[in-house]
Amino acid sequence: VEGISKVYRMGEVEVHALRSLNLDLYESEFVVLLGPSGSGKSTLLNILGGLDIPSSGHFYFRNQDLTNANDAVLTRFRRNSVGFIFQFYNLIPSLTARENVALVTEIARHPMKPEQALELVGLRDRLDHFPAQLSGGEQQRVAIARAIAKRPEVLLCDEPTGALDFQTGKIVLEALAQVNQELGTTTAVITHNAGIAGMADRVITMRSGEITNIQYNEHKLAPSALEW
Ligand code: ATP
Ligand code: MG
Repeated sequence: VEGISKVYRMGEVEVHALRSLNLDLYESEFVVLLGPSGSGKSTLLNILGGLDIPSSGHFYFRNQDLTNANDAVLTRFRRNSVGFIFQFYNLIPSLTARENVALVTEIARHPMKPEQALELVGLRDRLDHFPAQLSGGEQQRVAIARAIAKRPEVLLCDEPTGALDFQTGKIVLEALAQVNQELGTTTAVITHNAGIAGMADRVITMRSGEITNIQYNEHKLAPSALEW
């Protein structure tokens, strides 16, 4: 994104959620986004994933300017290139883990098998479980499997551990780092759990709609080697 600003107007009130922000995400990197509530993290992630458009500035994907792209182009971008993971898993309760993932693989261009996606997040033995029969951390890992099964080029995660306790959140974040290592999927994760920073290539801190710090990890740790 290049010089993007986002202004929300609610009647008389103007909220400047992003202020002339520049950011490049590099292929295969694992980026962690930190920052206080209201600093613009979700707004930025939504623009990166084509869910929202900036008020000004430009948004590129692989050098293609998508800022003023029409709906069909943006839909194709989201469907083929982006995987989203949110705080709440949004699984379909009447479908098993395997069926929840299969919903996506059936419409994707180059999908992996649902079983393979579930194996990547350590759920090989939960294929036929329904969401209600899975723990919160397992449900979130099904959501990760669903997001990666279409082999997106970018995985965008907005507080994926927000509804989980620390220990379970750790397992989910490790699963994301594992997927990044095995598939090379470019990944950006918003989290309040700074413990994950050691696994990231870059840790980006935001405040008041701006990037205030970027920390590069030249020697990032493998998920299994991380001390939390
Ligand atoms: P949190 O950590 O609480 O999720 P955040 O860093 O993700 O915060 P954003 O959700 O990006 O913050 O919001 C940035 C600012 O923009 C906030 O002040 C918020 O009130 C405002 N905002 C976000 N979405 C909207 C919207 N749809 N309409 C109006 N204002 C919005
Ligand atoms: Mg947010």
